[in-house]
Amino acid sequence: MTDFSQTRALFHIPEGVTYLDGNSLGPMPRTAAARAKAVIEAEWGERLIRGWNDAGWYVQPRRVGDRIARLIGAGAGEVVMGDTLTVKVFQAVSAALRLAREGRRVILSDSGNFPSDLYAADGLARAVGAELRVVEPEAVEGAIGDDLAVLMLTEVDYRTGRRHDMAALTRRAHEAGALTVWDLAHSAGAVDVDLTGANADFAVGCTYKYLNGGPGAPAFIWTHPRHADAAQPILQGWMGHDAPFAFDLDYRPAGGIERMRVGTPPVIGMAVLDTALDAFDGVDMAAIRARSIELTQRFIAGVEAACPEVTLNSPREPAGRGSQVSFRHPEAYAVMQALIARGVIGDFRAPDVLRFGFTPLYIGEAEVDHAVAVLREVLEGREWDRPEYRSRNAVT
Ligand SMILES: *Cc1c(COP(=O)(O)O)cnc(C)c1O
Repeated sequence: MTDFSQTRALFHIPEGVTYLDGNSLGPMPRTAAARAKAVIEAEWGERLIRGWNDAGWYVQPRRVGDRIARLIGAGAGEVVMGDTLTVKVFQAVSAALRLAREGRRVILSDSGNFPSDLYAADGLARAVGAELRVVEPEAVEGAIGDDLAVLMLTEVDYRTGRRHDMAALTRRAHEAGALTVWDLAHSAGAVDVDLTGANADFAVGCTYKYLNGGPGAPAFIWTHPRHADAAQPILQGWMGHDAPFAFDLDYRPAGGIERMRVGTPPVIGMAVLDTALDAFDGVDMAAIRARSIELTQRFIAGVEAACPEVTLNSPREPAGRGSQVSFRHPEAYAVMQALIARGVIGDFRAPDVLRFGFTPLYIGEAEVDHAVAVLREVLEGREWDRPEYRSRNAVT
């Protein structure tokens, strides 16, 4: 049994804050500052250029990748870190397109996807003469046809929390002769992902959401071992070269997942992520998933009983949902500002969505009940109806 009171003690949550936005930016692990200081002073400061070898900076993207692999149903040596998620999406989709069957040019995605994924795929499609097709999330399965090259989906919808059936859609895509790219931005660290079991082809994700790596923490990419030595990166960088320090003028991809490296990794940020991942040591993703379902069910039941002003905007069935819940309210922006002023931090998503993320590592029943009570007071008392909450000048 995972003891979530112990994992909670690993994080700094500011006094008076109920933090339901760990799906956008996870909270700070208590060890983060000491780890960053050690990397800066003892490694960079003292070891200088020698840090690449004797402090392990060069192998860090693979070493940290192995720690994430365990959380997403991947094997050791199959995941590598670096860059931002948008770059990793571009890399995965471009590599999948090059592996696609002769003549296949369609990339299929859905309108619930995060815009940056669609932008990256659209830019790529325009550059290489492919076509990005975007359908409603419910229409994805029916839109998989024999012209499909790549199915590019985000498993959990960032607004509604709707969770695609990764195994079923991957099977459908394979039957149609296509490859799959799964974005795990709202899955990794939150739900029990099983890339190997689903037989997916590529996956990517970020680490500053449920994995608590801090702002700007590096992204990850996974390639199924059957493609790892065949996938051709379009973004050919020196650290993905077979012999980076030979400085050959010609590019020759490294073996396996190493070829998905691009350039110099963010060493300081990755060290902070590394210490953040300690919170998952000994934690079973099935236990996190079970606990997250308890918390989200409790929140939905509580809000629906206490707040008739809002309507559920997430799938009611837990199996069809990730670890976040959203509700709609016509004045959602002002409502969220009023909640934040009371220390309950969630997210507003345009046009009318109140979104709350549930992260068992540091959120329990008490926080759920408190958030329900404060939401009720904000709505009943129309606390949101103040000019300072209604004017939209903040960056959120
Ligand atoms: C958060 C998120 C991103 C953000 O991409 P960055 O390049 O890391 O800024 C991209 N895609 C999805 C699905 C996300 O949820």
